[in-house]
Amino acid sequence: MVDTKLYDVLGVKKHASDGEIKKAYYKLAKEFHPDKNPESEEKFKEISFAYEVLSNAEKRETYDRYGLQGLKEGAGGGGFGGADLFGDLFGGIFGGMGGSPFGFGGMGGMGGGRRGRRRGEDTYHPLRVSLEDLYNGKTSKLQLSKTIICKKCNGLGGKAGATVRCRVCNGRGVKVTLRQLGPGMVQQMQSVCPECHGEGEAINEKDKCKECKGKKVNSESKILEVHVDKGMKDGQKIPFRGEGDQLPDLEPGDVIIVLQQKEHEVFSRDNDNLFIPHKLSLTEALCGFEFTVKHLDGRELIIKHPPGTVIEPGKVKVVKGEGFPHYRNPFEKGDLLVKFDVIFPPQNFATTQQLKKLEKILPARPKFEMPEGEHVEEVNLMEYDDTRSSGGGRREAYHDDDDEDDDGMPGGQRVQCAHQ
Ligand SMILES: [Zn+2]
Ligand SMILES: [Zn+2]
Repeated sequence: MVDTKLYDVLGVKKHASDGEIKKAYYKLAKEFHPDKNPESEEKFKEISFAYEVLSNAEKRETYDRYGLQGLKEGAGGGGFGGADLFGDLFGGIFGGMGGSPFGFGGMGGMGGGRRGRRRGEDTYHPLRVSLEDLYNGKTSKLQLSKTIICKKCNGLGGKAGATVRCRVCNGRGVKVTLRQLGPGMVQQMQSVCPECHGEGEAINEKDKCKECKGKKVNSESKILEVHVDKGMKDGQKIPFRGEGDQLPDLEPGDVIIVLQQKEHEVFSRDNDNLFIPHKLSLTEALCGFEFTVKHLDGRELIIKHPPGTVIEPGKVKVVKGEGFPHYRNPFEKGDLLVKFDVIFPPQNFATTQQLKKLEKILPARPKFEMPEGEHVEEVNLMEYDDTRSSGGGRREAYHDDDDEDDDGMPGGQRVQCAHQ
């Protein structure tokens, strides 16, 4: 029986193209988004899950061949990103696939791989992506070289039955050498048999597979299509189950693509919020401004601020909904935060006369009363070189050592602690 449930969920045919699947998903996800209607959350999960599977070539192939059951087994090895979702969906929406929630003893037991077969190592490959790629989504083709079981001999290394027990180690895979250390003293040393490389078997030269020359494996270059989805983040892993090196008697491990985001010139990201610094002249900060921001999808955002509302240095303002798209729910976006810096005019920017005019417009200065008496002294205010300061450093270090709130401590005690 061919399982087409996930296709049905998205309302597409089994041979739908990636584009058709994407289109169907976007339409449904919009319609059933829980923010619109909380009751449709289950439906939304179902749609998201179906899309997660069908938009990924590897998962889709597994599903087409083995159905949900096959995906479920795939989830055990840690190769499936949505393991939690699996629990939810198999227990609930797609329930009834077996007596117990999973029919075969739960997900936990699958972690170690299938019984009796060791699993190869997972291989990690970094994939450098730009912030634009993570914002807009992207499909990258990654060429990898991998070891595959020789197709000609099916990993036997020669004709069937051509393997014979290794004569050097007698099939034990280890070579034992005795070393005379002194009179009556012998050291026994074990090493991997150099003839059969520890396999205990050998193939006669004339029977060796011509393709792999008896090595049982060949090297192949393989192209992986990596779908970088909107909203993915730096460090996120995209697993390709079973795409690791194939070795005889070993279940291949996974190839895991690890996203590495390149630094962006303008934007930085904090989860789903985007952040840009913006410098304003004092005039703009006081009298209003407008400027444009080239967004990650190429749009030019015009940001305006009316005259009269003052922007202080360090002020943060927000543009709602212009942040990063949520992963798996790209219609929802975080916010764009703009942190303002105010650039003051240069030294001597105006004449004394002009300054007097300016002062009339600005709020009145606080009143200054000249103190009287012999303890009054006028001092010079100089330029300060803060690179030469060290006064703050010691207190900082002290604070690092002690997380406790020391607000109540008398000053004397602080100094003591600092010198301990
Ligand atoms: Zn041997
Ligand atoms: Zn071969």
